Amino acid sequence: MRRIYLDHSATTPLDREVLEEMKPYFSSKFGNASSLHSFGREASEAVERSREKVAAVLKCKPSEVFFTSGGTEADNWALKGIALAEGKNKHIITSSIEHPAVLHTAQYLEKNGYKVTYLPVDRYGFVNPSDVEDAIRKDTILISVMHANNEIGTIEPIEEIGRIAKERGVCFHTDGIQSFCKIPAEVDKLNVDLFSISAHKFYGPKGIGALYIREGTKIETLLHGGGHERGMRSGTENVPGIVGFGAASELGLKRMKKDSEKMIALRDRLIKETLKIEDSWLNGHPVKRLPNNAHFCFGLIEGESLILYLDERGIAASTGSACSSKSLEPSHVLLRIGLKHEEAHGSLRLTLGRENTKEEIDYVLEVLPEQIEKLRAISPFKTRKELSFFKPTEK
Ligand SMILES: *Cc1c(COP(=O)(O)O)cnc(C)c1O
Repeated sequence: MRRIYLDHSATTPLDREVLEEMKPYFSSKFGNASSLHSFGREASEAVERSREKVAAVLKCKPSEVFFTSGGTEADNWALKGIALAEGKNKHIITSSIEHPAVLHTAQYLEKNGYKVTYLPVDRYGFVNPSDVEDAIRKDTILISVMHANNEIGTIEPIEEIGRIAKERGVCFHTDGIQSFCKIPAEVDKLNVDLFSISAHKFYGPKGIGALYIREGTKIETLLHGGGHERGMRSGTENVPGIVGFGAASELGLKRMKKDSEKMIALRDRLIKETLKIEDSWLNGHPVKRLPNNAHFCFGLIEGESLILYLDERGIAASTGSACSSKSLEPSHVLLRIGLKHEEAHGSLRLTLGRENTKEEIDYVLEVLPEQIEKLRAISPFKTRKELSFFKPTEK
């Protein structure tokens, strides 16, 4: 059976070119980047070349890029690192639709005496910059708002929020894990001080990421030990991972425009045709969304069942977030944009990648209405009229 992968926001396949660049660092070039001999130098030079490639995407200094074990660690570091550097009981501002790596870290800090404001979002998932401004207090030490949402794909007004943060002298973090190498992410244009990245979301390996830290930012280190990453993040470097991260960044930057144009065309066709299905709607903003994200809800069905039905036909999709898909609670993002529980259950996220073809989308458009119809035929929900469907009008 053919298999079509449409879950690129959960993870991407490792690019073949990236794998080739990594291979020697698993075998002949196995040195520890801290060693003084030629094996060590070979590794540390590769690490520094990768740092430059990551910095080229962010348009920052390579010395402002610090490698981590992935996106989750980068988000944890940004929040806890600033909190620890600024002292107890201070105030943090974030949004209510962040990834759990930010949201649960903020909740943890709250339990430990910090104050946190969780900003609401509108029906598209936008944080209002003036809400950010109003929430700033004398003791605010950090604002953390994601660049693009991993579920509904909405791109947040980061430049504007960044401008406010800068004017008010508050440190600004963005979780850029979904945006990096999909849309421009130049830290000076975005006015951010901290930017989280994870390599496996853009054709790099799993288990490697980075935190961009603007020079001069007061931040504590979370991992103490041998003083790697200039004393900021101890632990022997994951050299093959870092090499793959660098290679994926270089490739991603080079291909960003072409890949996103191709994906936008496929995405828009997917959205237009899917919305012809009865009782369906698009979540997130129709235009200000990630090039690869299409996120729908369908009335009267369960998203999980639809995922399994699609999987039977070889289509790999998601209800929204890989992290919450095993729990019965509907997505916090969908509830925050104003969906009712019963509406939020019937969600489907299709996230494209650079290898997807028009023919694959045609196949999805053929299979999807069939599978939805089958599920609706056996649906226990019969009260279609009682559901007031949430249908954002085009702006
Ligand atoms: C995937 C993801 C993370 C977590 O990154 P990992 O490298 O998988 O730990 C954090 N935030 C967002 C928005 C993500 O999409």
